[in-house]
Amino acid sequence: MNDEPGDEEVSGKTALPSAHRSDRGRPAENREGQRQLHLCPKCACDLVHPISYGEAPGRGWELELRCPNCFWSEVAVYDRALVDALEDQLDAALAGMLDDLQRLAQANMSEEIERFARALHCDAILPEDFDF
Ligand SMILES: [Zn+2]
Repeated sequence: MNDEPGDEEVSGKTALPSAHRSDRGRPAENREGQRQLHLCPKCACDLVHPISYGEAPGRGWELELRCPNCFWSEVAVYDRALVDALEDQLDAALAGMLDDLQRLAQANMSEEIERFARALHCDAILPEDFDF
């Protein structure tokens, strides 16, 4: 996931890196001209993911890829290095989403604690509010 300044969305008090950004204009190939499977060749979205996959004996992996942005899809056989690179991208994206989820959960918990503390200070919470 990219942590460039200005590449974030603000949710409440917590700034979260966007997991749904689209880098339009970026080619679906790296500098060496090798295809990057997580990039859509039609719209350059970096969220292309496999819908299905299976081993193509002796030839690599047959994947059905889909872009969630423009709904481009393709079924083709890719060599192992490309599929490994896609797996690395998917793992990094998952780790980024889990980090975002943890930060969001912490922010929500912090807000609940602040509300509870304010309620205690203004005597809005009394012992009879709890069942013992
Ligand atoms: Zn696309």
